[in-house]
Amino acid sequence: MAEASPGSRIAILGGGITGLTAAWRLQKAGLRPVVFEQSIRPGGAIGALPTKEGWLHELGPNSLLEGAPEVAAFIDEVGLGARRIYASPAARQRYIVRGRQLVALPTSPFGFIGTKLFSWRAKRHLLGEPWRPRGPADDAESVADFVRRRLGQEFLDYAINPFVAGVYAGDPAQLSVRHAFPKLHALEQEHGSLIRGALKRRNTSGGPKGRIFSFPNGLEELPLAIVGQLGDAVRLQCTVRGIRRQGARWFVDFEPISGRATEEFAAVVSALPGDALAALRCDDMPESTRLGVLRDVMQPPVASVFTGYRREAVAHPLDGFGVLVPEVEPFSILGTLFSSTLFPGRAPDGCVGLTTFIGGTRHPALELRAERDILQLVQEDLAALVGVRGEPIYAHIQRWPRAIPQYNLGYGRFKAAIGAVEAANPGFFVGGNCRDGISIANCIESGRRLAGVTQGYLRSTGD
Ligand SMILES: Cc1cc2nc3c(=O)[nH]c(=O)nc-3n(C[C@H](O)[C@H](O)[C@H](O)COP(=O)(O)OP(=O)(O)OC[C@H]3O[C@@H](n4cnc5c(N)ncnc54)[C@H](O)[C@@H]3O)c2cc1C
Repeated sequence: MAEASPGSRIAILGGGITGLTAAWRLQKAGLRPVVFEQSIRPGGAIGALPTKEGWLHELGPNSLLEGAPEVAAFIDEVGLGARRIYASPAARQRYIVRGRQLVALPTSPFGFIGTKLFSWRAKRHLLGEPWRPRGPADDAESVADFVRRRLGQEFLDYAINPFVAGVYAGDPAQLSVRHAFPKLHALEQEHGSLIRGALKRRNTSGGPKGRIFSFPNGLEELPLAIVGQLGDAVRLQCTVRGIRRQGARWFVDFEPISGRATEEFAAVVSALPGDALAALRCDDMPESTRLGVLRDVMQPPVASVFTGYRREAVAHPLDGFGVLVPEVEPFSILGTLFSSTLFPGRAPDGCVGLTTFIGGTRHPALELRAERDILQLVQEDLAALVGVRGEPIYAHIQRWPRAIPQYNLGYGRFKAAIGAVEAANPGFFVGGNCRDGISIANCIESGRRLAGVTQGYLRSTGD
């Protein structure tokens, strides 16, 4: 195989963390990526807002899990290793609402025995998990059915339902266990039991190592550091409208701040959200009409509401990561992060900051609500749960009209459509959170994968 020519230009569609990671890796390999990003700022869902009064809050994701060694290595490679700040030990505790009260999630077997989060009946039922039969290997089982079958209804209601709200803002009855939680699905398939599988993995891997981290100026430091190294390879306010193929060459039609333009590339990498990919004009691309199905990916709205208070205006000690709210409890919010406990520098002296999520599949009509209504719902719930008194002294609402793709039952058809279009169009590659997983860590891995397959393709064409 010939080596990829160092001059090869590759179009990267979308300047979120997936596209930026792919571009960074391709540039490091001596290729010439060009990132097209429609927004005025890079990073996609990742963004932070500092204020002159001393608040600092995230607009989208709040933290990154250092689970896979590749994530830690990537942070080091882009030069941010020393900037990493880990979640404070004071944030170890996690709360779940039960009976309208915050109950700490147990962190040890003894804690589990004593916890008020689950009844004795539920605890006894959980102990039988290793002896329950293995479920189906296909993707036809929902997270709710999977958990009910293995762990019982109460565990679904008070552990998995709130957890799913915190990760996907989604509905366990609709999410596919195989697509949404592939590791959990694999644990049952490989070991016949979640408990047995988890113990075995713990023994072989030396236990869970994933630590949660961010950066002093928020997660945005990551895309900004990458963009700093990519230089003018990143084109902001450049919206891609279409892609075309002629022989082995690719043409990208885009709209910079004014006018329209077309440029030629050796390959095209999409790191766009599913609906944006579905909206592209793809002339002369066999099978490309299949991408239209990505419009059907459910992506409900979420609002991230940051509220700041004087310390004495909040009764709860805020001694933890935050609180998640099960759907069976009578509240509007999905959960709240104790942001100023989690990381330093998030609130001015003598103040605390909370980040509350509301919406998702529980409240899909959220988009239509006025900001003051959203703030009022959040205030009411925070008053009942953590005892906030009076109005916040700082508040900011960030709306995400299409927040997180739901890997629901039948998600395989979206992946199959993407796969078919790639197979019919050599030199076109798709990644990002519509395909490779929704966490930032998944997206960093997706960017690495995209860079790898693109290099492989260019080598095969001698480009
Ligand atoms: C509210 C919220 C909270 C989250 N919390 C966490 C968390 O705590 N931890 C975690 O790991 N993950 C979290 N996530 C998930 C994670 O942030 C995202 O899945 C991930 O950042 C997606 O990255 P991406 O690059 O694939 O897509 P995106 O970030 O969506 O980037 C896609 C980019 O494409 C651009 N674009 C779209 N159309 C066009 C076009 N036609 N031309 C050019 N550019 C275009 C967009 O402007 C965007 O910048 C959260 C997500 C949200 C919304």
